[in-house]
Amino acid sequence: MHQQVNLDAFRGRATELYGSDPKGWKFACPRCHTPQSALDWDAESIDREVIEKQIGFSCIGRQIKDKGCNWTLGGLLQLHDIEIVDGDGNTHPHFRLHDPANSCLSVGGDDT
Ligand SMILES: [Zn+2]
Repeated sequence: MHQQVNLDAFRGRATELYGSDPKGWKFACPRCHTPQSALDWDAESIDREVIEKQIGFSCIGRQIKDKGCNWTLGGLLQLHDIEIVDGDGNTHPHFRLHDPANSCLSVGGDDT
């Protein structure tokens, strides 16, 4: 059972964490946990159309070799842990937001 998140709530939380520009919203790949935003993809010269379709759904490693992994939510294994529920009640599997305050990848944090 995946956690279902209302689209407005998801956007609200993203805005809280990263501001109102969706390009800056960072998502965490459920497999390699690499945080990634549309700006990060853009910085790798990935096609804008590809970014719009894939961000939050496929890992940046599917587009470039030296980052992330090749995970996509379109695969047979359903590793995603949230589904966004839109205004029509349809569900969309999606990467979680990367939480900068609670990152399993955080290095040198003060939680030691
Ligand atoms: Zn990944």
